[in-house]
Amino acid sequence: EERVISSEASTFDDGFEQTLRPQRLVQYIGQERVKHNLGIFIEAAKQREESLDHVLLYGPPGLGKTTLASVIANEMGVNFRTTSGPAIERPGDLAAIVSSLEPGDVLFIDEIHRLSRAVEEVLYPAMEDFCLDIVVGKGPEARSIRFDLPPFTLIGATTRAGSLSAPLRDRFGVPLRLDYYDRAALAEIVVRSADIFGAPITRDAAEEMAMRSRGTPRIANRLLRRVRDFAQVRGNGEITLPTAQEALELLQVDSHGLDSIDHKLLLSMIERFRGGPVGLDTIAASIGEESATIEDVYEPYLLQVGFLQRTPRGRVVTPRAYEHFGMDMPDDGRR
Ligand code: ADP
Repeated sequence: EERVISSEASTFDDGFEQTLRPQRLVQYIGQERVKHNLGIFIEAAKQREESLDHVLLYGPPGLGKTTLASVIANEMGVNFRTTSGPAIERPGDLAAIVSSLEPGDVLFIDEIHRLSRAVEEVLYPAMEDFCLDIVVGKGPEARSIRFDLPPFTLIGATTRAGSLSAPLRDRFGVPLRLDYYDRAALAEIVVRSADIFGAPITRDAAEEMAMRSRGTPRIANRLLRRVRDFAQVRGNGEITLPTAQEALELLQVDSHGLDSIDHKLLLSMIERFRGGPVGLDTIAASIGEESATIEDVYEPYLLQVGFLQRTPRGRVVTPRAYEHFGMDMPDDGRR
């Protein structure tokens, strides 16, 4: 099922996301603290004519980790090479990639928490000393050969910094956390994207879409794309507040950016478990989703908007969520 407001990338987005991707730091909207720090590190590395320290970007999907990594490569004036944790199956795969880099290049590894142990072992000396230790031969004949690599910058991205092994985490000089975007930043992203599409949009329409984008640029852009279609077919192409609202109703995205899966999750907790506390696996089973998907994709935003809370005994639906649904809290003195 293609979820309009899924924050995960899909093939549906490919060319479109590419077009909308900012190229330079000044075009990268929001995340002011991260941009400020990065700007200094980049400037310093350039002055010293060195490669930038390894960077770890973490935060929920769709917040601009890949985009920021490519912006860093642009700012450093180097090549941007991308791969992902699951794509690097064996140590040899990693060796092939890093030995083909040019001095200063950025190597981006998405989902870096999914690297195997064996691959990680090869990565350590590559990150630390820019060299590869390759074992040749077997048994008593086996020996290790050391190859030098050009200095490079590894940029790792992960949705779960907690699942990174400590030795890997420690080798990143610059860990940066991306946060959900505020409404003003998202509205700016919507306006910028509409401009690239050549679609006229009013300020209040952009604000409305920002409010329903779950703090996530990927979702803001995806909503814009659907709303633009709607404005074109139903109206004269201009994206106004009423067109945006009508389109968003049709897409079943509510005033807080919650969609049918969020509703199902919260309502099943309310209806079957009196609002909790209830364990993650139980929630997952009751709505037919995987626990990991709930934890990485749905739950962070529900926690962020204060509709869900994590307690030692499980997840709990908050009074705020009951209010959102116009429902009364169970009145049994349990909480
Ligand atoms: P992630 O790698 O964290 O999943 P991406 O970098 O793929 O997220 O970002 C998704 C889309 O959102 C990009 O195509 C880009 O157009 C847009 N985007 C992300 N961050 C920003 C930003 N700070 N400013 C403008 N657009 C952004």
